Amino acid sequence: MRIVSIQRKNWQWLAVFSVAVVVLNYLAIRFLAADDIENVNLENLQGRRIAIDPGHGGIDSGASGHGVIEKEVNMAIAGKVTKILQDHGAVIFLSREGDNDYYTRGKGGKRNDLLTRIDKIEQAQPEVFVSIHCNAIKGPDLSGAQVFYSPKFEQSKQLAEVMQRALKDFPPGNRRQAKQDLHILMLNGIKVPGVLVETGYLTNKKEASRLADPAYQEELAGHIAKALAYHFSKNAGQ
Ligand SMILES: [Zn+2]
Repeated sequence: MRIVSIQRKNWQWLAVFSVAVVVLNYLAIRFLAADDIENVNLENLQGRRIAIDPGHGGIDSGASGHGVIEKEVNMAIAGKVTKILQDHGAVIFLSREGDNDYYTRGKGGKRNDLLTRIDKIEQAQPEVFVSIHCNAIKGPDLSGAQVFYSPKFEQSKQLAEVMQRALKDFPPGNRRQAKQDLHILMLNGIKVPGVLVETGYLTNKKEASRLADPAYQEELAGHIAKALAYHFSKNAGQ
C-alpha cells in the first residue's frame, strides 16, 4: 500500500510539473517574444523599403466618432511612423502625402481610389506595406488595435502577428489576435506583402480621445516601427 501511495504522489507531482511546463512555455512565448519586439534594434530598418498607406483622405473622411475623424488620425500616425522609420534609414513611400483622395466620378469611385493606391505602392516596389486605419463598426464598448492580413503571402501573416504583439498595450490589456481577411481589397488585390492596422475604435469614447492625442499617436507609431524592425531582423535576406 505504501509503495502504491508513493507512486500516486509521484504521478501527481509529474502532472503538476507538466502543467507548469506548458504554462511557463505559453508565458515565455507571449511575454518574451513581446519583450524581443520592445527591445528590438531599430537599426534593422536601415535601407529597408516600406510603403505607408494612410487610409482615406480628401472627400473620404473614413469613420468618425466623438468628434474624431479617421482620415486625420490615420495621417497623423502615418506621419509619425514615417519620421521614425526615416530617422533609422528606411526608404519610405507614402500612398498620400496630404489630404487628398484618388476617387473617380461615378460608380466604382471608392474601388478606383484603392486600386490607385495599390498601383502606386506596387510601382514604388517596397518590401512590405502598412495601411493605417481606425475602426468604428460595432458597439461602443469595443476597443483595441487589430491587425489584418491576407493569407496570400506568408510574410504578411508573419508581419501581422508581430505587429499585433507589438500593439498589445494599445490600449493596455488588448488581447486581440491578428486576423486573416480575404475581402479587404488593399490586402488581397496587391502584389506586395503587408498588413492593415486598425489602430483602435472611434466608436469607443475613451479610445477616440486616445487616438486623437498626439502622445498616444507617437507611442502607437513607435510600436508600429518596432514591429517592422523586428520583422526585418527575422527576414534579413529578403
Ligand atoms: Zn478606414
